[in-house]
Amino acid sequence: MMRWQTVLQEAIRDPHALLEALQLTADQVGLSEEAMASFSCCVPKHWLGNMRVGDPDDPLLWQVLPRQWETQSVSGFVADPLGEQSSAGVPGLLHKYQGRVLLTLTQACPIHCRYCFRRHFPYRDQRPRMAEVLSYLHAHPEVHEILFSGGDPLMLGDEAWASWVSALNQVPHLRRLRVHTRMPSVVPERLTSDLLAVFGAFQGACIVVSHMNHADECSVLLKERVRAWQQAGVTWLNQSVLLRRVNDDALTLAALSEALFEHGILPYYLHVLDPVDGAAHFEVGRTEAQALMRALRARLPGYLVPRLVWEKPGADAKVVLG
Ligand SMILES: *Cc1c(COP(=O)(O)O)cnc(C)c1O
Ligand code: SF4
Repeated sequence: MMRWQTVLQEAIRDPHALLEALQLTADQVGLSEEAMASFSCCVPKHWLGNMRVGDPDDPLLWQVLPRQWETQSVSGFVADPLGEQSSAGVPGLLHKYQGRVLLTLTQACPIHCRYCFRRHFPYRDQRPRMAEVLSYLHAHPEVHEILFSGGDPLMLGDEAWASWVSALNQVPHLRRLRVHTRMPSVVPERLTSDLLAVFGAFQGACIVVSHMNHADECSVLLKERVRAWQQAGVTWLNQSVLLRRVNDDALTLAALSEALFEHGILPYYLHVLDPVDGAAHFEVGRTEAQALMRALRARLPGYLVPRLVWEKPGADAKVVLG
C-alpha cells in the first residue's frame, strides 16, 4: 500500500494529463486556462481511478476539472460568500452554535473542488494556536464537542494530531471530537491504523464526517478502512453538496445514500451550494432542491435521507430546507 503522503505528492496537477488518462480532449470538455489560473487543478490518482474513461460528463470530472463555465460572472455569486471571521477572538476558531466549536487547522486540501468557496483563498492560512484554543475551551465549560474542518484537517500528520488529541484530553468537559474530511473518498490511504490509534487516545467519542457527492467516490479500500475504524468505535457520517451535473436527480442521490450505507456511512447533510464566484453552473434552485428531497423521501428509508441544509449567516444552526 502506498503511503498517503506519496499519494498526495503524485496527485495530477496538469489537467492535460488528466484528460489524457481519461481519453478526452480539451475541446470536448471545455478546458479553461483562465479557470485554472484562478484555482489550480489537483486530483489524487485514487480518485482518477473512480472516473469513467471517455465520459466528458463524468460526475467526478465535473467536480475537479477547470472548465470554461467557471469564467462566467453571475450576479449574487461572490468571492467570499460566508465571510467567516472568528467570532470568538481566537484565530482559526469559530463558535457559532451552542455546545460546539469549529477549528480550522489548515487550508490545505488533498483535492481542489471547483464548487468550493475556498477556490478564492486556497492558501489563506490561519492556524489556531493550541494554547489559545485550550484557554478558550477552559473558559467555556458548555462546549462539549470540537469540530475540525478546513481545508482538510487530515492533511496534518499523525504527530500533529497526537499533540492536539493529548491537549484536548486536558479539557474534561469535551465529550466528542469530530473531523470533517474529504480524505475518505479522495485518499482513503490516509485512514491508517496509526491515525486510528491517535484518535483512539481521545477521552470521548470520535466522529468522522466524510464529504462525498456521488456513489462513484466510494471504493473497496474505503469500505475496509471504515469497517476497521467502526470496530474501534468511530461513528461515520457523510455530508454532500447538491450540485448541478453531479448529483442533481433523485436516482443519483438515492444511489449515493445506498452506497454510503454499503460502506458503513450514514448520510447527514446535503448542503445547498454557497454562491461562490465561478461556481454558478453548479447551482440547483431551492424549489427544485426541495422537490428532490420529497422524491428522495418517497424512495428511501428515513435513515438514508440526508437533511437539506443552508448555512444562513447569523443563524443559531444550519437551516433545514427539506
Ligand atoms: C456547520 C458548523 C457546525 C456544525 O453544525 P452541526 O449542525 O453540529 O453539524 C459547527 N460550527 C460551525 C461554525 C459550523 O459552520
Ligand atoms: S470541498 Fe473541501 S477538499 Fe474540496 S476544495 Fe473545498 S475545502 Fe478543499
